[in-house]
Amino acid sequence: MTTLPARKELPPAYEPATVEGRIYQFWEEQGYFQPRIDPAQKPYTIIMPPPNVTGELHLGHGLEDAITDALVRWHRMQGEPTLWLPGEDHAGIATQNVIERELAKEGLSRHDLGREGFVERTWMWVRKYRSRIADQHRKLGASADWSRDVFTLDPGIVKAVRTTFVNLYRDGLIYRGLRMINWCPRCETALSDLEVDYVDVASKLYYVRYPLVGEGGMPLPAYVVVATTRPETMVADTGVAVNPADERYEEKIGRMLLLPIIGREIPIVADDAVKTEFGTGAVKVTPGHDPNDWEIGQRHNLEVIIAMDRQARMNDEAGPYTGMTDEEARAAILHDLEDEGFLDHIEEYTHSVGHCSRCKSVLQPIPSEQWWIDVRREYEPGRSLAGEAAKAVREGRIRIVPQRFEKVYLNWMDNIRDWCISRQLWWGHQIPVWYCPDGHMTVVVEDPGACAQCGSTALRQDEDVLDTWFSSGLAPHADLGWPGDTEDLRYFYPTGDMQMGYDIMFFWCARMVMFALYNMRHLGPENEVPFRTVLFHGLIRDANNEKMTKSRGNVVDPLVAAAQYGADAFRFAVLTGAAMGADQRYQDERMAAARNFANKLWNSARYVLMKLESRSVGRPHPRDRDAFAIEDRWILSRLERLEGEVDQLLASYQLNEAGRAIEEFLWNDFCDWYIEMTKVRLNAGDERPRAVLAHVLDHGLRLLHPIMPFITEELWQALRGHMEAETPNALMVAWFPKSAGNWRDGAAEAAMEHVIEVNRAIRNLRAEKKVPAGARLDVYLQAGGHAAALRETAAATAFTSRVQPHVVEPGATLPAGDYAYARIADTEVALALPRVDSGAERARLEKEIGEAAAHMGRLEKQLANDAFRAKAPGHVIAGMEATLAETRTKVEGLRERLDVL
Ligand SMILES: [Zn+2]
Ligand SMILES: [Zn+2]
Repeated sequence: MTTLPARKELPPAYEPATVEGRIYQFWEEQGYFQPRIDPAQKPYTIIMPPPNVTGELHLGHGLEDAITDALVRWHRMQGEPTLWLPGEDHAGIATQNVIERELAKEGLSRHDLGREGFVERTWMWVRKYRSRIADQHRKLGASADWSRDVFTLDPGIVKAVRTTFVNLYRDGLIYRGLRMINWCPRCETALSDLEVDYVDVASKLYYVRYPLVGEGGMPLPAYVVVATTRPETMVADTGVAVNPADERYEEKIGRMLLLPIIGREIPIVADDAVKTEFGTGAVKVTPGHDPNDWEIGQRHNLEVIIAMDRQARMNDEAGPYTGMTDEEARAAILHDLEDEGFLDHIEEYTHSVGHCSRCKSVLQPIPSEQWWIDVRREYEPGRSLAGEAAKAVREGRIRIVPQRFEKVYLNWMDNIRDWCISRQLWWGHQIPVWYCPDGHMTVVVEDPGACAQCGSTALRQDEDVLDTWFSSGLAPHADLGWPGDTEDLRYFYPTGDMQMGYDIMFFWCARMVMFALYNMRHLGPENEVPFRTVLFHGLIRDANNEKMTKSRGNVVDPLVAAAQYGADAFRFAVLTGAAMGADQRYQDERMAAARNFANKLWNSARYVLMKLESRSVGRPHPRDRDAFAIEDRWILSRLERLEGEVDQLLASYQLNEAGRAIEEFLWNDFCDWYIEMTKVRLNAGDERPRAVLAHVLDHGLRLLHPIMPFITEELWQALRGHMEAETPNALMVAWFPKSAGNWRDGAAEAAMEHVIEVNRAIRNLRAEKKVPAGARLDVYLQAGGHAAALRETAAATAFTSRVQPHVVEPGATLPAGDYAYARIADTEVALALPRVDSGAERARLEKEIGEAAAHMGRLEKQLANDAFRAKAPGHVIAGMEATLAETRTKVEGLRERLDVL
């Protein structure tokens, strides 16, 4: 096995661009992303939500990679055979739209190419873009097993899709039925309810007079006024409906009306679905063009007339308006109604209109033959797709994180409607149903040679394709080889975690659960589930908390951000940006702060490596605890405490908190305090810190690796040469630190915290007194119980706070001079001030007292104001009162100093 040659010397600054590609290639060449199947060990598996093959990774994918890769690397470092299985989605309608737009630029439509030519062209495009998506994941450090990469149109998935379809069909769960569907005239396909965007549209409500019919079919002067937003559909009216409880129309129910212009007689029916408060309480019924009217028509046996074709053009049923677009027909019909005195009046009206979520066209509801999945029908006694999917979550066999989404999931599942799975597209899984000239249906997995009923070989396959979510809904088991009985399926199924944006909970999560519980039910309740836990992450909004959209022009490309700040900084920033399930804002400052953290770590690691020179060091051993200095025992104890915290935080999916805890430890405890304190010790010939520095850096890099994989690997490669212990060839396959508790030392931690606080106080006093940075002052520490710790760390205090510390008894007499005082617990800090010009000092103190007194005056006045007190929140008032008390103490202190001048 080759190793990654450590660089002779690390450059002074961290340059992600020179590190990331080289490191990733090394990992991939070593085969670290491919798990070894070991029946003795429990695997960890996670399936990548397959991005649409249509394009680029967006910020959401970047966040997904950061979350998943952190989990995957953490599990891998714990020795579990870990599989992150990547894939790409053929994304039926989205991809077809992209190719159609390309064709349009050449003046072509898909019909010019024909189905085969169009599909071939799409494949060419897919081959080009698929590898690009994988490369984008690589740039973000995703340790996915590319040897198992799955495309949702791979032969294996085709087989899984067809097998599922055929089984559902044989169990009576798939049926073909005429239903009112959402039709996009632009995309020329049916859409599921989830693919419809409802937008409030300012429109008009047209009131039209429908005359009553008298003897011999003659129109009477009396009429019923109906209100409609779509007068162009009146050519297809087959009735008028009123509410049976509406007294205004009681007498008229059952009578006939004459449809204006068209002249067809239509009945007045009574139906509970009619709202008396809408318009006049009488509505036209157009079963061919409205889902509610469809239902009314079904109940009253009204004729279905379809007056528009699938591009929303009026057809032969529209009489004089044949051939017009829907908008042209509306204008012409309104004109004619007006002319003939049928238009009563027009009102402004805002209502919600369904639009295609892909192309934004206004949808036309039309009745159409489609394929459906009956999600409530039982395929075994007591078992339906929706029922089982709800039960698995209710029984806790599938856990939802954060838990609040459980209610959303269950509510949807409990109210779910049949799923329309056919799409009138060319790109996708063509429905495995074949028709013979006699209309027999053959529903099989493999292309049939002849009709199953009559043996005819003149077969025609159903032209529709399946909804894209049908194939991605099979992801966990189909990606692992189902319906084959593969080693991968047996070993890696069910998967561990699954994660996605909460916005695709119904599209994807719900369908995966339904399909898995059906296809994998032979494994029994515990093991049929597709995954044990599903994590819903939030959305990333822009800095102003707006949703990122192409039209707003505020989209951030994760690859651009990663190139600018480094992939590690990008991962750290988005991972720590929000708790699981919560939205976050994208802020450049957070990216820059994460980059600063990487630089800080780099510099500190360089210091450690420099101090190790050409030495190899062993790990500090707990049995030698007493031989170590208090700083050593403190940092080792803190490290172990951190390890326990990180373990618990990662296990409960609080990745953001884990990231913050590691950063705080490395930045504050390790870099700012421990490393600084070792400088003077090493200079003085104290050898003990070297092993501690190496050990803490080693563990720190291991802990941080899942979140910031590149920089930690690069630094660790440089460090491992200094380790006496045998190490694996890469940090990514090294063990993850687990707190053994051997170094836990509450006394050392408490003592060092005190020392740090004392140092902070000294620095604050220096700043407050405006002591020149270079001045080395005496400081007297009148310590109680902490005297020993302060004495032991005196040299470090001298070095890091640039003072000469003297630890003395409480109440000891100090040499004559001026002092600045601070009190930290039982330690009185007295900083000897340089001699000052008493005149200038008096002026300075008086000015400071004046400013503080003015501030107090303002606070007092505000706090005395009853109106303000009534309105301001409690914490604001409490804060002001605290400030006032502090300022008062400060002024007293300043006055005392003024007195002794
Ligand atoms: Zn559309
Ligand atoms: Zn036949």
